Amino acid sequence: MIPPLDPTFWIILGVLAVALVGIGVGLVLRVRGLREIERRERERVLTSTAPPAEPQVHEGELVEERPARGAPPLDAPEAPATRLARLRRRLASSNNVLARALGDLISADRLDADVWDDFEATLIGSDLGVGPTTELVDNLRRELAIDGVNDPARARRVLHAELVKLADPTLDRELYDTGANGLPAVVLVVGVNGTGKTTTVGKLARVLVAEGKTVLLGAADTFRAAAADQLETWGNRVGVETIRGAEGADPASVAHEAVNAGIERGVDVVLIDTAGRLHNKSNLMDELGKIRRVATRRAPITECLLLLDATTGQNGLVQARVFNEVTDVTGIVLSKLDGSAKGGIVVQVQRELGVPVKFIGLGEGVDDLAPFTAEGFVDGLLGE
Ligand code: GDP
Ligand code: MG
Repeated sequence: MIPPLDPTFWIILGVLAVALVGIGVGLVLRVRGLREIERRERERVLTSTAPPAEPQVHEGELVEERPARGAPPLDAPEAPATRLARLRRRLASSNNVLARALGDLISADRLDADVWDDFEATLIGSDLGVGPTTELVDNLRRELAIDGVNDPARARRVLHAELVKLADPTLDRELYDTGANGLPAVVLVVGVNGTGKTTTVGKLARVLVAEGKTVLLGAADTFRAAAADQLETWGNRVGVETIRGAEGADPASVAHEAVNAGIERGVDVVLIDTAGRLHNKSNLMDELGKIRRVATRRAPITECLLLLDATTGQNGLVQARVFNEVTDVTGIVLSKLDGSAKGGIVVQVQRELGVPVKFIGLGEGVDDLAPFTAEGFVDGLLGE
């Protein structure tokens, strides 16, 4: 017969049993909790309409990753009318320095030399350039001297008309996005690092897709893998494919592959993003020349857009001049006008380079690119 056990034995056994049951229940609950968190996370990802984070690249470096602002979901490009109204407001809010200067001019008791000097200084400060500023002030003085500025509405009309004249409404600003003989149009995008090439390629693809065109991107900036990643992220965001090569691959061969793929797939437009290294002029000339030669073997380049960052002023203009000398630029895209009070650069760049501004960039979002028109631009500048 088994001898009766000490009661403490039964107490210890009881405590152990309770502890084991507790641990078991705890484990079950924990696993369930983790599953629930996992389920919720999966649902969040599936239902999220937020675009993928875009690598933010500036001056050739990967600075930070942050989600794009204000990018609508893929299937809903903003309607052109609301997009243009919104962009015009953005231009007005940052650029109406000229409107204020005109206000000062109009409200001055006497239009003496000091008042005109102040006005002239504001125009030069907005990067209009000395030549165009002198021209504008001379014309205004002549036109307004007749009856002074006792008619502010007229003064505003005169300034508006003079500025439109400077921005030159007669230039052809059409984007050459139609290829000949059934071939795709090929748009090459060039410019210094950080001016906004990759971003503009993405925004432009968005505009073309919204117009019902089929588009392919070519990542001919092969110096950093991050550059092609950034372009591909844009491609995914706007729903177009990106042709890319290995890091360090020959940019010209990637451009060539992109054009070939565009021909094979029968797309309407191939947009080629390039690197903007500006080591020296002959280096740049070699590189862009080679891209041009190789890319155009099967389809000609229909448009070469040069990016200019509006916040860099005269320095940007000097760089733009170099690009214009080494390659055949057909249009300017002026980026970052949203953060600049230097809209006058439009006039200078067109005069200096003899090339029309075709688009302006007014933000980092996918719909923040506007076609340039002289009238619309001056309306924005004057806050109208
Ligand atoms: P890239 O080196 O010429 O390809 O320049 P990116 O396209 O990488 O642009 C450089 C930086 O400028 C990025 O942070 C962009 O988001 C920003 N950027 C480009 N265009 C605009 C614009 O029109 N407005 C503003 N505010 N930022 C812009
Ligand atoms: Mg780039």
